[in-house]
Amino acid sequence: MSNDLIGKRINVLDKGWVELVDMLPHPLTGVSGDMAIVNAARVSFMGESKGEEKDKKLLFYLLRNKHTSPFEMVEFKFRVHAPLVTWWQWARHRTWNFNAQSGRYTPFEESDFYVPDVWRKQAISNKQASEGQVDSETNAHLTEKLEEHYQQGFALYEEALKVGVSKEMARLFLPGFSVYYTWVVKVDVHNLMHFLKLRMASDAQHEIRVYAQAIYEAFLKPALPWTAEAFEEYILKSK
Ligand SMILES: Cc1cc2nc3c(=O)[nH]c(=O)nc-3n(C[C@H](O)[C@H](O)[C@H](O)COP(=O)(O)OP(=O)(O)OC[C@H]3O[C@@H](n4cnc5c(N)ncnc54)[C@H](O)[C@@H]3O)c2cc1C
Repeated sequence: MSNDLIGKRINVLDKGWVELVDMLPHPLTGVSGDMAIVNAARVSFMGESKGEEKDKKLLFYLLRNKHTSPFEMVEFKFRVHAPLVTWWQWARHRTWNFNAQSGRYTPFEESDFYVPDVWRKQAISNKQASEGQVDSETNAHLTEKLEEHYQQGFALYEEALKVGVSKEMARLFLPGFSVYYTWVVKVDVHNLMHFLKLRMASDAQHEIRVYAQAIYEAFLKPALPWTAEAFEEYILKSK
């Protein structure tokens, strides 16, 4: 795998992004993620590569038979800029490690709020899902109202700071679900695949699905092409 992926940043939503900070094994070691998994599986007899065909076959065998611990030997560390509505769901995945930007320490910026392109309508058949979108006139009206709401909230935040209120309290004026936060997150490939299975699914909320898709397409697939192929075959297609 080339070293180019480290430091690569993919834009997501209107102002969000995902950046690969580091990975294990680091590309400079010359060992690909796929080979790190194969090598871990062969640890009992200190195996290294037995040729591409056998190595790939072993990796597929592992995932097909749910022998998942070798996939925990490869890790990704990302920096992610996402609105709180996304973090609210992401943080439920206990197998990730997280460190969040402190809103008690770093002041928020005026532009750091999520403005959706389209306003999706409430789904009829699924009470926690959306489907379709409102007409374009309503869309423009709601976006205008949302921006007004952000401006009012941010003005109150600044006013509170100006009179000496702490950042940790002034942020009560910010529109909660839409404020962007930067987090550093780390996960191994076994648990990443579990996350992707749940969060790339059609019933996942759009605001987390786009992050899951970005991680899959921009990082997992190019870094671990055999694992991505096996993931599509044995995990994405399974119920
Ligand atoms: C479409 C969708 C809708 C959702 N709706 C809601 C909702 O309405 N309300 C809500 O609260 N949550 C909701 N969630 C969150 C969901 O319930 C899970 O908390 C979240 O998806 C994390 O999944 P996980 O526990 O499998 O992942 P992780 O926390 O990453 O855990 C991975 C796996 O490790 C094991 N594991 C980890 N910790 C434990 C533990 N303490 N005990 C036993 N096994 C453990 C489990 O096998 C688990 O599947 C929703 C998720 C999705 C995808």
